[in-house]
Amino acid sequence: MSSRVLITGGAGFIGSHLSERLLAEGNEVICVDNFFTGSRRNVEHLFDNPRFELLRHDVTFPLYVEVDQIYNLACPASPVHYQHDPVQTTKTSVMGAINMLGLAKRLRVPILQASTSEVYGDPAVHPQTEDYWGNVNPIGTRSCYDEGKRAAETLFFDYRRQHDLSIKVIRIFNTYGPRMHPNDGRVVSNFIVQALRGEPITIYGDGSQTRSFCFVDDLVDGMVRLMDTGHDVTGPINVGNPGEFTMLELANAVLEITGSSSTIEHRPLPQDDPKQRQPNIDLARRELGWEPTVALQPGLERTIAYFRSVLTD
Ligand code: NAD
Ligand code: UDP
Ligand code: UDP
Repeated sequence: MSSRVLITGGAGFIGSHLSERLLAEGNEVICVDNFFTGSRRNVEHLFDNPRFELLRHDVTFPLYVEVDQIYNLACPASPVHYQHDPVQTTKTSVMGAINMLGLAKRLRVPILQASTSEVYGDPAVHPQTEDYWGNVNPIGTRSCYDEGKRAAETLFFDYRRQHDLSIKVIRIFNTYGPRMHPNDGRVVSNFIVQALRGEPITIYGDGSQTRSFCFVDDLVDGMVRLMDTGHDVTGPINVGNPGEFTMLELANAVLEITGSSSTIEHRPLPQDDPKQRQPNIDLARRELGWEPTVALQPGLERTIAYFRSVLTD
């Protein structure tokens, strides 16, 4: 059955793909965004669809709309962006969660929170399972994002306990794909842009730190599957690709696919940079019947093709 779906942060990287997917399934989509990191351009190909609506709005302020489902994605995701105005980052996570939970409570509709593997901080447990409480610095430069997202999870579970809301908390691990912001400082976009421009590839630290990269289509599929579960399934649930790579391996993969002759340059490691990250996805397999289908190589090829087209525009 088709629904009217609200996506906050819908004009961002992940939100634009989620909008596409939900429209393709026949739903109506109301996309709400303040365009801090997202843009009209990310969703302009959807403007002709009469079931799509784009609203400029900041989720730290109340929002009154009538919908059947809420996906709460509003929040800058890359360190460069979320550290630009850290107070606004915490406000967006905390006040945005309160407002969207208030909306879900009034309408009695399910609400999904885009949480993050960052709630595990620099993890002492590897791979990360959902019952691990994390190792997060509360006062560092990443804290506005990590602690904001942790507080949002708290709010989701308290609204569940106090008001019996249908909540769905997904912990997203590093995700990449077309429509990533070329200047957002994240490793996949940085390496690809640098390789395509023939500039040095910047590896922070010695490049031995690891991340696990999930292609955006796989992530979106996990989000939709989680939203479609019954009232009893709340998460938190990890969604990510367990393939784990060092940043040096990632740089070499990008160099190989692009055929670039860029050199590799080492830069200082940022504060509180997690040394390793890999999701344990047993719960997603069990409760959602989900697992990733796009490996790093083909996912990078599709992402590189996208960046080639936007960089030559
Ligand atoms: P993004 O920056 O492309 O998208 C975030 C969107 O939220 C942008 O369109 C931005 O303009 C909007 N936004 C920010 N503050 C807002 C506010 N106050 N009111 C309304 N809109 C606001 O990032 P993304 O990668 O698409 O991330 C989407 C969500 O997924 C975020 O909540 C992020 O924390 C989460 N997430 C992403 C990743 C990843 O690897 N991309 C990993 C873990 C979690
Ligand atoms: N809220 C909103 N849209 C709604 C309903 C509520 O933005 O349709 C906001 C409302 O402004 C409030 C927040 O959500 O600040 C939390 O709502 P809740 O009902 O939980 O709390 P209360 O209104 O009792 O403070
Ligand atoms: N990184 C890097 N070079 C870059 C950008 C990032 O080596 O140009 C490293 C960064 O230090 C981190 C990893 O790549 O260890 C992933 O960084 P990103 O900002 O993409 O994601 P997050 O740290 O939030 O997982």
